[in-house]
Amino acid sequence: MRILVVEDEDKVSRFVVKGLTAERFAVDVARDGKTGWELAQTYQYDLIILDLMLPGLTGGEVLNRIRKSKSQVPVLILTARDSVSDKVDHFEAGADDYLTKPFAFAELLVRVKALLRRGPITRASVLRTGDLELDRLSQQVKRAGKRVELTSKEYGVLEYLMANAGRVLSRTMILEHVWDQSFDGATNIVDVYVRHLRSKVDDPHERKLIRTIRGLGYVISVDEVET
Ligand code: CA
Repeated sequence: MRILVVEDEDKVSRFVVKGLTAERFAVDVARDGKTGWELAQTYQYDLIILDLMLPGLTGGEVLNRIRKSKSQVPVLILTARDSVSDKVDHFEAGADDYLTKPFAFAELLVRVKALLRRGPITRASVLRTGDLELDRLSQQVKRAGKRVELTSKEYGVLEYLMANAGRVLSRTMILEHVWDQSFDGATNIVDVYVRHLRSKVDDPHERKLIRTIRGLGYVISVDEVET
């Protein structure tokens, strides 16, 4: 899953990014409101962590624009303010949760996971394709009841495929969803990871689930996919 952190204080953003990356999230950072809004429009984030006091556009303005654009992406507000009226204002403006600084990373993580669980699109905490099962909370993957060990990027690719089961995803879509902005290599990195995934998820089993759609990309599905 991919998260955008909009925060101008380097210390706070470094701390958040380090923790989230260790939890296998792909994380982008914006240091001002305008950049945050641009990134929010450009990429399909699973969650946005938004500071309120920002240069350029304030967090409140960024939130307004996100909601006006009809995006339902979950937004977690991060702020030094903690008055009740501020909280009410931002919930009304479309924030999903609110965390006051300073905070412990563990608390942020609990809230992030709660928001992702109930989020807008396919947010079932357990995804299933045939006998393949992926639990987004424990981040465990099982095939035919047996645990499959994946690296964090393999997990990211599989989670994205399974959340969109039956839908063909291009290499670019996979790359944009699973890798962050700092990655500037070629899209064939996706092929490498899909190959690794197949060796763990499909090769030991007769029924193959990950399918290559020539010229288009990849899809995970129990059945043949018509294109
Ligand atoms: Ca700030």
